[in-house]
Amino acid sequence: MFDVLMQTPIIEIFDEQLEKYGVKLYAKREDLTDPVISGNKYRKLKYNLIYAKQKRFHTLLSFGGAYSNHIHAVAYAGYKFGFKTIGIIRGEEIKPLNPTLEDARSFGMKLHFISRTSYRNKNEQQFIENLKNKFGDFYLIPEGGSNSLAVKGCEEILMEDEREFDHICCACGTGGTLAGIITSLGGMKKAWGFPVLKHGEFLKEDISRLIYDYNKRSYTNWDLITNYHFGGYAKYTFELISFINRFKKAHKIQLDPIYTGKLFFGIYDGIERGFFTSGEKILAIHTGGLQGIKGFNNRFGNLID
Ligand SMILES: *Cc1c(COP(=O)(O)O)cnc(C)c1O
Repeated sequence: MFDVLMQTPIIEIFDEQLEKYGVKLYAKREDLTDPVISGNKYRKLKYNLIYAKQKRFHTLLSFGGAYSNHIHAVAYAGYKFGFKTIGIIRGEEIKPLNPTLEDARSFGMKLHFISRTSYRNKNEQQFIENLKNKFGDFYLIPEGGSNSLAVKGCEEILMEDEREFDHICCACGTGGTLAGIITSLGGMKKAWGFPVLKHGEFLKEDISRLIYDYNKRSYTNWDLITNYHFGGYAKYTFELISFINRFKKAHKIQLDPIYTGKLFFGIYDGIERGFFTSGEKILAIHTGGLQGIKGFNNRFGNLID
């Protein structure tokens, strides 16, 4: 396996608002795992890479949107760990490539663009057969990288002595990261997922299934907080942007507008609304995702400082 920081630090965040409400907030700095591959994406890939090597696969194939942190991570992991990589990208190719796809291509990934309509069939057997006919054999990693081996990897986010918090909060795309956090807690404390997509309630079933497939158990100490999506995936408001920029100035921590910005915004709002209460300790998982900022700024006009 290539070298990354496996035990990331937890730091306390200090400011007037937290002091006023008597809440303690900490950040688990998974953004520091590696300068290129961001925290949770590495964790999700780790055991998949080991498995694919053991089974002597030479190629990894996965799916994602044009700005996907996951696609970026698969391309980089393949480059570092000796796999060919193929990225099936949703939508038409737009030239020049955006920074995410430009990086992916420079890491050696073969990019294959398909229409949004075909992309919807990505989990169907026939569709995958067609890909095998076209590209030869590959190890398939699902969109967002979430499968049982990803849950196993995400169990390693929290060390055993890092579970003393009342609440553990994490942004959710597909929910694999939260699933690993939940299994690592073993029923203790409370885990909260903040879906970054609209109508995120559907993730509850996906996450329960990921957990069940992994360890045949179910847990009740977790839930989703679905009202901090800001209009949907990659949607934003100026309130969100200004929060991210203020947070960076105050705490020297960069948040991204797709995931962690929404998470931290939601936590602060939850504190203000009394959802989290005085005396409680909250741990926010900073899952990284910072590679996406360049593309976001190119697209929407340098909003993130
Ligand atoms: C992908 C990603 C997530 C979501 O992870 P899931 O396991 O898909 O829920 C959260 N934060 C960042 C920065 C990500 O890149």
